[in-house]
Amino acid sequence: MLESPCLFCGQPTRDRGLFVPNDPQEYGAEPGKSRIFAYPLCESCRADGIDLAKVEALAMLAGLRPAVH
Ligand SMILES: [Zn+2]
Repeated sequence: MLESPCLFCGQPTRDRGLFVPNDPQEYGAEPGKSRIFAYPLCESCRADGIDLAKVEALAMLAGLRPAVH
Protein backbone atom coordinates (compact mmCIF):
# COMPACT_ATOMS: atom_id res chain seq x y z
CA MET A 1 0.00 0.00 0.00
CA LEU A 2 1.30 3.48 -0.82
CA GLU A 3 2.34 5.93 1.82
CA SER A 4 -0.15 8.71 2.49
CA PRO A 5 -0.13 11.52 5.00
CA CYS A 6 -1.69 10.47 8.30
CA LEU A 7 -5.13 12.04 8.67
CA PHE A 8 -4.16 13.34 12.11
CA CYS A 9 -0.52 14.37 12.01
CA GLY A 10 0.36 14.38 8.32
CA GLN A 11 3.31 12.02 8.71
CA PRO A 12 3.63 9.61 5.78
CA THR A 13 2.31 6.19 6.69
CA ARG A 14 1.31 2.91 5.10
CA ASP A 15 -1.03 2.09 7.95
CA ARG A 16 -4.76 2.54 7.59
CA GLY A 17 -7.63 2.98 9.99
CA LEU A 18 -11.23 2.16 9.20
CA PHE A 19 -14.06 4.60 9.64
CA VAL A 20 -17.71 3.50 9.61
CA PRO A 21 -20.02 6.52 9.68
CA ASN A 22 -23.07 6.47 11.91
CA ASP A 23 -25.05 8.08 9.14
CA PRO A 24 -23.79 6.55 5.87
CA GLN A 25 -26.31 8.51 3.81
CA GLU A 26 -24.35 11.66 4.61
CA TYR A 27 -21.56 9.99 2.68
CA GLY A 28 -23.67 9.12 -0.31
CA ALA A 29 -24.81 5.63 0.65
CA GLU A 30 -28.20 4.38 -0.43
CA PRO A 31 -30.73 4.14 2.39
CA GLY A 32 -30.13 0.96 4.38
CA LYS A 33 -26.59 0.53 3.08
CA SER A 34 -23.45 1.15 5.03
CA ARG A 35 -20.12 2.57 4.03
CA ILE A 36 -16.66 1.84 5.25
CA PHE A 37 -13.80 4.22 4.67
CA ALA A 38 -10.11 3.48 4.97
CA TYR A 39 -7.96 6.45 5.93
CA PRO A 40 -4.26 6.92 6.54
CA LEU A 41 -3.46 6.50 10.21
CA CYS A 42 0.09 6.25 11.49
CA GLU A 43 1.09 3.91 14.29
CA SER A 44 1.72 6.62 16.85
CA CYS A 45 -1.70 8.24 16.33
CA ARG A 46 -3.34 4.83 16.54
CA ALA A 47 -1.47 4.22 19.78
CA ASP A 48 -2.66 7.59 21.15
CA GLY A 49 -6.27 6.60 20.59
CA ILE A 50 -8.58 7.93 17.92
CA ASP A 51 -11.32 10.49 18.42
CA LEU A 52 -14.05 9.21 16.11
CA ALA A 53 -15.77 12.59 15.94
CA LYS A 54 -12.53 14.04 14.65
CA VAL A 55 -12.16 11.24 12.12
CA GLU A 56 -15.63 11.98 10.84
CA ALA A 57 -14.92 15.70 10.51
CA LEU A 58 -11.61 15.07 8.77
CA ALA A 59 -13.17 12.43 6.54
CA MET A 60 -15.73 14.98 5.36
CA LEU A 61 -13.03 17.54 4.65
CA ALA A 62 -10.78 15.08 2.91
CA GLY A 63 -13.64 13.70 0.84
CA LEU A 64 -12.65 10.13 1.64
CA ARG A 65 -13.75 7.57 -0.88
CA PRO A 66 -15.55 4.51 0.32
CA ALA A 67 -13.45 1.37 0.51
CA VAL A 68 -16.55 -0.83 0.46
CA HIS A 69 -19.87 -0.04 -1.20
ZN1 LIG B 1 -0.34 10.29 12.73
